[in-house]
Amino acid sequence: MKYLKTEFKDLKPYHSQHLTKGIILNANESPYNLPKAILEKFKDLLDNIDFNRYPDTDNTKLLASIAKTYALEVENVCAGVGSDEMLDCIFKAVISKGDKVLVPYPSFTMYKQMGIYYGANVIEIELDDEFRYDINLFIEKIISYNPKLIFLCVPNNPTGGSLSNEEIEKILKLSNGLVVVDEAYGEFDDKTALELIKKYDNLIVLKTFSKAFRLAGIRTGYALSSKENIKMINVVKMPYNLNVLSNEMAVLALDNKELILDNIKEIKNELSKTYKELKALGIEVYDSKANFLWCKLSDKIKSALIENKIYIRDIKFKDEMYSRITIGSKEEMEKLIKVVSSNANC
Ligand code: PMP
Repeated sequence: MKYLKTEFKDLKPYHSQHLTKGIILNANESPYNLPKAILEKFKDLLDNIDFNRYPDTDNTKLLASIAKTYALEVENVCAGVGSDEMLDCIFKAVISKGDKVLVPYPSFTMYKQMGIYYGANVIEIELDDEFRYDINLFIEKIISYNPKLIFLCVPNNPTGGSLSNEEIEKILKLSNGLVVVDEAYGEFDDKTALELIKKYDNLIVLKTFSKAFRLAGIRTGYALSSKENIKMINVVKMPYNLNVLSNEMAVLALDNKELILDNIKEIKNELSKTYKELKALGIEVYDSKANFLWCKLSDKIKSALIENKIYIRDIKFKDEMYSRITIGSKEEMEKLIKVVSSNANC
Protein backbone atom coordinates (compact mmCIF):
# COMPACT_ATOMS: atom_id res chain seq x y z
CA MET A 1 0.00 0.00 0.00
CA LYS A 2 2.72 2.42 -0.99
CA TYR A 3 0.28 5.25 -1.71
CA LEU A 4 -1.46 5.08 1.69
CA LYS A 5 -0.88 8.09 3.96
CA THR A 6 1.74 7.26 6.59
CA GLU A 7 -0.65 8.10 9.44
CA PHE A 8 -2.97 5.29 8.21
CA LYS A 9 -0.29 2.61 8.01
CA ASP A 10 -1.46 0.76 11.15
CA LEU A 11 -5.16 1.09 10.32
CA LYS A 12 -7.09 -2.09 9.54
CA PRO A 13 -10.21 -2.00 7.34
CA TYR A 14 -13.52 -2.51 9.16
CA HIS A 15 -14.39 -6.17 8.80
CA SER A 16 -17.47 -8.18 9.60
CA GLN A 17 -17.66 -11.74 8.35
CA HIS A 18 -20.42 -12.05 5.74
CA LEU A 19 -22.34 -15.24 6.40
CA THR A 20 -25.19 -16.73 4.42
CA LYS A 21 -25.54 -20.19 5.99
CA GLY A 22 -25.85 -21.52 9.53
CA ILE A 23 -27.17 -19.65 12.56
CA ILE A 24 -26.05 -16.07 12.01
CA LEU A 25 -25.73 -14.23 15.32
CA ASN A 26 -22.69 -12.06 14.59
CA ALA A 27 -23.93 -8.72 13.20
CA ASN A 28 -26.88 -7.60 15.36
CA GLU A 29 -29.29 -7.99 12.45
CA SER A 30 -32.88 -9.12 12.72
CA PRO A 31 -33.31 -12.88 12.23
CA TYR A 32 -36.44 -12.15 10.18
CA ASN A 33 -36.86 -10.82 6.67
CA LEU A 34 -39.75 -8.40 6.07
CA PRO A 35 -43.35 -9.68 6.17
CA LYS A 36 -44.49 -11.06 2.79
CA ALA A 37 -47.16 -8.36 2.40
CA ILE A 38 -44.50 -5.62 2.47
CA LEU A 39 -42.24 -7.45 0.02
CA GLU A 40 -45.22 -7.69 -2.35
CA LYS A 41 -45.90 -3.95 -2.03
CA PHE A 42 -42.25 -3.24 -2.82
CA LYS A 43 -42.45 -5.35 -5.98
CA ASP A 44 -45.43 -3.27 -7.11
CA LEU A 45 -43.46 -0.07 -6.55
CA LEU A 46 -40.66 -1.26 -8.83
CA ASP A 47 -42.88 -0.87 -11.90
CA ASN A 48 -43.06 2.88 -11.38
CA ILE A 49 -39.40 3.66 -10.74
CA ASP A 50 -37.49 5.65 -13.35
CA PHE A 51 -34.19 3.83 -13.02
CA ASN A 52 -32.69 6.08 -15.72
CA ARG A 53 -33.05 9.14 -13.45
CA TYR A 54 -31.00 10.21 -10.45
CA PRO A 55 -32.83 9.87 -7.15
CA ASP A 56 -33.99 13.01 -5.32
CA THR A 57 -30.78 14.35 -3.76
CA ASP A 58 -32.78 15.89 -0.88
CA ASN A 59 -34.53 12.57 -0.09
CA THR A 60 -37.68 14.71 0.27
CA LYS A 61 -40.26 11.91 0.56
CA LEU A 62 -38.22 9.94 3.10
CA LEU A 63 -37.38 12.97 5.24
CA ALA A 64 -41.07 13.93 5.34
CA SER A 65 -41.96 10.42 6.42
CA ILE A 66 -39.27 10.33 9.18
CA ALA A 67 -40.27 13.81 10.39
CA LYS A 68 -43.93 12.75 10.60
CA THR A 69 -42.98 9.58 12.51
CA TYR A 70 -41.26 11.58 15.26
CA ALA A 71 -43.46 14.71 15.14
CA LEU A 72 -40.52 16.83 13.95
CA GLU A 73 -40.07 19.13 10.96
CA VAL A 74 -38.38 18.04 7.74
CA GLU A 75 -35.53 20.47 8.50
CA ASN A 76 -34.75 18.45 11.64
CA VAL A 77 -33.85 15.34 9.61
CA CYS A 78 -31.05 14.15 7.32
CA ALA A 79 -30.81 10.62 5.87
CA GLY A 80 -27.76 8.70 4.75
CA VAL A 81 -26.25 5.43 3.60
CA GLY A 82 -26.62 3.84 7.01
CA SER A 83 -26.06 5.82 10.17
CA ASP A 84 -22.41 5.20 9.20
CA GLU A 85 -22.73 7.94 6.57
CA MET A 86 -24.25 10.30 9.13
CA LEU A 87 -21.33 9.59 11.48
CA ASP A 88 -18.91 10.30 8.66
CA CYS A 89 -20.69 13.59 7.81
CA ILE A 90 -20.54 14.69 11.44
CA PHE A 91 -16.79 14.05 11.62
CA LYS A 92 -16.26 15.72 8.24
CA ALA A 93 -18.24 18.79 9.24
CA VAL A 94 -16.94 19.23 12.78
CA ILE A 95 -13.45 17.80 13.20
CA SER A 96 -10.16 19.43 12.23
CA LYS A 97 -6.80 17.76 12.83
CA GLY A 98 -6.07 17.37 16.53
CA ASP A 99 -9.61 18.12 17.78
CA LYS A 100 -10.63 16.09 20.79
CA VAL A 101 -13.34 13.44 20.56
CA LEU A 102 -14.61 11.42 23.54
CA VAL A 103 -15.83 7.89 22.87
CA PRO A 104 -16.89 5.10 25.24
CA TYR A 105 -14.75 1.96 25.44
CA PRO A 106 -15.67 -0.69 24.54
CA SER A 107 -18.14 0.69 22.01
CA PHE A 108 -18.92 0.80 18.28
CA THR A 109 -15.45 0.71 16.71
CA MET A 110 -16.30 3.11 13.87
CA TYR A 111 -16.25 6.13 16.23
CA LYS A 112 -12.55 5.63 16.79
CA GLN A 113 -11.85 4.55 13.22
CA MET A 114 -13.51 7.66 11.79
CA GLY A 115 -11.71 9.78 14.35
CA ILE A 116 -8.45 8.46 12.91
CA TYR A 117 -9.60 9.18 9.31
CA TYR A 118 -10.15 12.82 10.25
CA GLY A 119 -7.02 13.20 12.40
CA ALA A 120 -8.93 13.63 15.67
CA ASN A 121 -7.44 13.11 19.08
CA VAL A 122 -9.71 10.26 20.21
CA ILE A 123 -10.00 9.82 23.98
CA GLU A 124 -11.55 6.54 25.11
CA ILE A 125 -13.59 6.52 28.32
CA GLU A 126 -13.76 3.08 29.85
CA LEU A 127 -17.04 1.62 31.03
CA ASP A 128 -17.14 0.50 34.67
CA ASP A 129 -16.42 -3.03 35.95
CA GLU A 130 -19.96 -4.12 35.11
CA PHE A 131 -19.64 -2.59 31.60
CA ARG A 132 -22.02 0.27 32.45
CA TYR A 133 -21.41 3.92 31.61
CA ASP A 134 -19.48 5.71 34.33
CA ILE A 135 -21.16 9.11 34.04
CA ASN A 136 -18.92 10.73 36.65
CA LEU A 137 -15.85 9.68 34.69
CA PHE A 138 -17.38 11.16 31.50
CA ILE A 139 -18.06 14.41 33.35
CA GLU A 140 -14.51 14.51 34.69
CA LYS A 141 -13.08 13.97 31.20
CA ILE A 142 -15.38 16.55 29.59
CA ILE A 143 -14.14 19.11 32.09
CA SER A 144 -10.50 18.26 31.57
CA TYR A 145 -10.52 17.85 27.74
CA ASN A 146 -13.34 20.16 26.56
CA PRO A 147 -13.98 17.88 23.53
CA LYS A 148 -15.51 19.06 20.24
CA LEU A 149 -17.47 15.86 19.87
CA ILE A 150 -18.78 13.26 22.34
CA PHE A 151 -20.29 9.91 21.38
CA LEU A 152 -22.80 8.09 23.54
CA CYS A 153 -23.99 4.78 22.16
CA VAL A 154 -27.37 4.14 23.82
CA PRO A 155 -27.79 1.19 24.22
CA ASN A 156 -24.09 0.59 23.86
CA ASN A 157 -22.77 -1.79 21.21
CA PRO A 158 -21.31 -4.31 22.20
CA THR A 159 -22.16 -4.29 25.92
CA GLY A 160 -25.90 -3.44 25.89
CA GLY A 161 -26.02 -0.87 28.73
CA SER A 162 -28.23 2.21 28.40
CA LEU A 163 -28.29 5.74 29.82
CA SER A 164 -31.23 7.66 31.29
CA ASN A 165 -32.14 11.01 29.76
CA GLU A 166 -31.21 12.64 33.10
CA GLU A 167 -27.68 11.28 32.65
CA ILE A 168 -27.57 12.40 29.02
CA GLU A 169 -28.76 15.87 30.06
CA LYS A 170 -25.90 16.19 32.54
CA ILE A 171 -23.49 15.67 29.65
CA LEU A 172 -25.39 18.00 27.30
CA LYS A 173 -25.38 20.81 29.87
CA LEU A 174 -21.70 20.48 30.58
CA SER A 175 -20.44 20.07 27.03
CA ASN A 176 -19.42 22.97 24.79
CA GLY A 177 -19.15 20.53 21.90
CA LEU A 178 -21.64 18.37 20.05
CA VAL A 179 -23.05 15.27 21.73
CA VAL A 180 -24.05 12.44 19.40
CA VAL A 181 -26.45 9.91 20.93
CA ASP A 182 -26.33 6.85 18.69
CA GLU A 183 -29.64 5.01 19.05
CA ALA A 184 -28.94 2.30 16.45
CA TYR A 185 -30.56 -0.14 18.93
CA GLY A 186 -32.96 2.41 20.42
CA GLU A 187 -36.14 0.58 19.41
CA PHE A 188 -35.19 -2.31 21.72
CA ASP A 189 -34.75 0.04 24.69
CA ASP A 190 -37.70 1.49 26.58
CA LYS A 191 -36.54 5.10 26.07
CA THR A 192 -35.20 7.61 23.55
CA ALA A 193 -33.29 10.89 23.86
CA LEU A 194 -35.35 12.43 21.02
CA GLU A 195 -37.39 14.67 23.33
CA LEU A 196 -34.14 16.46 24.25
CA ILE A 197 -33.54 17.74 20.71
CA LYS A 198 -35.84 20.73 21.20
CA LYS A 199 -34.13 21.62 24.46
CA TYR A 200 -30.43 21.28 23.55
CA ASP A 201 -28.86 22.61 20.35
CA ASN A 202 -25.74 20.48 20.89
CA LEU A 203 -27.54 17.13 20.53
CA ILE A 204 -27.70 14.89 17.46
CA VAL A 205 -29.63 11.60 17.70
CA LEU A 206 -28.75 8.89 15.16
CA LYS A 207 -31.13 6.12 14.16
CA THR A 208 -31.12 3.36 11.56
CA PHE A 209 -33.32 1.01 9.57
CA SER A 210 -30.66 -1.73 9.91
CA LYS A 211 -31.65 -3.29 13.24
CA ALA A 212 -35.21 -3.34 14.63
CA PHE A 213 -36.63 -2.35 11.22
CA ARG A 214 -35.06 -5.53 9.73
CA LEU A 215 -33.53 -3.58 6.83
CA ALA A 216 -29.74 -3.90 7.11
CA GLY A 217 -29.74 -4.63 3.36
CA ILE A 218 -30.96 -1.18 2.28
CA ARG A 219 -28.20 0.74 4.12
CA THR A 220 -30.32 3.61 5.41
CA GLY A 221 -29.94 5.60 8.60
CA TYR A 222 -30.71 9.14 9.71
CA ALA A 223 -29.79 12.01 11.98
CA LEU A 224 -32.30 14.04 14.01
CA SER A 225 -31.26 17.40 15.43
CA SER A 226 -31.78 21.17 15.40
CA LYS A 227 -32.28 22.78 11.98
CA GLU A 228 -28.81 24.38 12.24
CA ASN A 229 -27.06 21.06 12.89
CA ILE A 230 -28.93 19.39 10.03
CA LYS A 231 -27.91 22.26 7.71
CA MET A 232 -24.34 21.62 8.82
CA ILE A 233 -24.56 17.91 7.94
CA ASN A 234 -26.03 18.81 4.53
CA VAL A 235 -22.99 20.98 3.78
CA VAL A 236 -20.84 17.84 3.58
CA LYS A 237 -23.38 15.17 2.57
CA MET A 238 -22.70 13.51 -0.81
CA PRO A 239 -25.20 14.38 -3.54
CA TYR A 240 -27.68 11.61 -4.41
CA ASN A 241 -26.42 9.61 -1.43
CA LEU A 242 -29.42 7.30 -1.08
CA ASN A 243 -30.36 5.24 -4.10
CA VAL A 244 -33.93 5.10 -5.33
CA LEU A 245 -34.56 1.56 -4.00
CA SER A 246 -33.42 2.39 -0.45
CA ASN A 247 -35.51 5.54 -0.49
CA GLU A 248 -38.67 3.69 -1.57
CA MET A 249 -38.17 0.80 0.85
CA ALA A 250 -37.48 3.08 3.83
CA VAL A 251 -40.70 5.04 3.18
CA LEU A 252 -42.64 1.79 2.83
CA ALA A 253 -41.13 0.55 6.10
CA LEU A 254 -42.26 3.65 7.98
CA ASP A 255 -45.74 3.34 6.45
CA ASN A 256 -45.85 -0.20 7.88
CA LYS A 257 -43.96 0.49 11.08
CA GLU A 258 -46.31 -1.39 13.45
CA LEU A 259 -46.19 -4.57 11.38
CA ILE A 260 -42.38 -4.51 11.04
CA LEU A 261 -41.64 -3.63 14.65
CA ASP A 262 -44.14 -6.16 15.95
CA ASN A 263 -41.45 -8.76 16.69
CA ILE A 264 -39.46 -6.54 19.08
CA LYS A 265 -41.48 -8.10 21.94
CA GLU A 266 -40.41 -11.56 20.84
CA ILE A 267 -36.73 -10.56 20.55
CA LYS A 268 -36.82 -8.98 24.00
CA ASN A 269 -38.37 -12.16 25.42
CA GLU A 270 -35.65 -14.26 23.84
CA LEU A 271 -33.03 -11.82 25.17
CA SER A 272 -34.17 -12.15 28.77
CA LYS A 273 -34.63 -15.92 28.47
CA THR A 274 -31.14 -16.38 26.98
CA TYR A 275 -29.63 -14.07 29.62
CA LYS A 276 -31.16 -16.14 32.43
CA GLU A 277 -30.18 -19.44 30.85
CA LEU A 278 -26.56 -18.36 30.32
CA LYS A 279 -26.40 -17.08 33.92
CA ALA A 280 -27.78 -20.38 35.20
CA LEU A 281 -25.00 -22.16 33.28
CA GLY A 282 -22.42 -20.10 35.15
CA ILE A 283 -21.55 -17.87 32.16
CA GLU A 284 -20.36 -14.30 32.78
CA VAL A 285 -23.09 -12.34 30.98
CA TYR A 286 -24.32 -8.74 31.26
CA ASP A 287 -27.79 -7.22 31.29
CA SER A 288 -28.68 -5.70 27.92
CA LYS A 289 -31.24 -3.20 26.58
CA ALA A 290 -30.45 -4.09 22.96
CA ASN A 291 -30.81 -7.18 20.72
CA PHE A 292 -27.52 -8.75 21.79
CA LEU A 293 -25.73 -10.04 24.89
CA TRP A 294 -22.14 -9.34 25.99
CA CYS A 295 -20.56 -12.33 27.67
CA LYS A 296 -17.42 -14.32 28.24
CA LEU A 297 -17.30 -17.83 26.83
CA SER A 298 -14.64 -20.50 27.18
CA ASP A 299 -12.65 -21.54 24.11
CA LYS A 300 -14.35 -24.93 24.37
CA ILE A 301 -17.82 -23.35 24.06
CA LYS A 302 -16.72 -21.07 21.21
CA SER A 303 -15.29 -24.00 19.22
CA ALA A 304 -18.43 -26.07 19.84
CA LEU A 305 -20.59 -23.19 18.54
CA ILE A 306 -18.55 -22.98 15.34
CA GLU A 307 -18.70 -26.78 14.91
CA ASN A 308 -22.48 -26.48 15.12
CA LYS A 309 -22.46 -23.61 12.59
CA ILE A 310 -23.58 -21.07 15.16
CA TYR A 311 -21.74 -17.82 14.49
CA ILE A 312 -21.29 -15.11 17.12
CA ARG A 313 -18.81 -12.20 17.30
CA ASP A 314 -15.56 -12.32 19.28
CA ILE A 315 -14.45 -8.90 20.52
CA LYS A 316 -11.20 -8.03 22.24
CA PHE A 317 -11.49 -5.77 25.27
CA LYS A 318 -8.13 -4.75 26.70
CA ASP A 319 -6.26 -8.08 26.66
CA GLU A 320 -9.25 -10.34 27.01
CA MET A 321 -11.64 -11.90 24.53
CA TYR A 322 -15.36 -11.42 25.04
CA SER A 323 -18.30 -12.47 22.89
CA ARG A 324 -21.32 -10.64 21.56
CA ILE A 325 -24.31 -12.82 20.78
CA THR A 326 -27.06 -11.34 18.61
CA ILE A 327 -30.52 -12.52 19.63
CA GLY A 328 -32.00 -14.70 16.91
CA SER A 329 -35.27 -16.62 16.64
CA LYS A 330 -36.58 -18.87 19.44
CA GLU A 331 -35.31 -21.98 17.63
CA GLU A 332 -31.88 -20.45 17.04
CA MET A 333 -31.51 -19.48 20.70
CA GLU A 334 -32.60 -22.94 21.82
CA LYS A 335 -29.87 -24.47 19.64
CA LEU A 336 -27.30 -22.04 21.05
CA ILE A 337 -28.23 -22.81 24.66
CA LYS A 338 -28.11 -26.55 23.95
CA VAL A 339 -24.53 -26.28 22.64
CA VAL A 340 -23.44 -23.96 25.49
CA SER A 341 -24.97 -26.22 28.16
CA SER A 342 -23.33 -29.38 26.84
CA ASN A 343 -19.96 -27.64 26.88
CA ALA A 344 -20.25 -25.59 30.10
CA ASN A 345 -18.41 -26.59 33.23
CA CYS A 346 -21.28 -26.52 35.68
N1 PMP B 1 -24.06 2.63 15.35
C1 PMP B 1 -23.95 1.47 15.98
C2 PMP B 1 -23.88 1.49 17.46
C3 PMP B 1 -23.90 0.26 15.29
O1 PMP B 1 -23.78 -0.88 15.95
C4 PMP B 1 -23.97 0.30 13.88
C5 PMP B 1 -23.91 -0.95 13.03
N2 PMP B 1 -23.47 -2.07 13.56
C6 PMP B 1 -24.08 1.54 13.26
C7 PMP B 1 -24.14 2.68 14.01
C8 PMP B 1 -24.14 1.65 11.77
O2 PMP B 1 -25.34 1.16 11.32
P1 PMP B 1 -25.88 1.41 9.88
O3 PMP B 1 -24.79 2.10 9.10
O4 PMP B 1 -26.23 0.07 9.35
O5 PMP B 1 -27.07 2.30 10.06
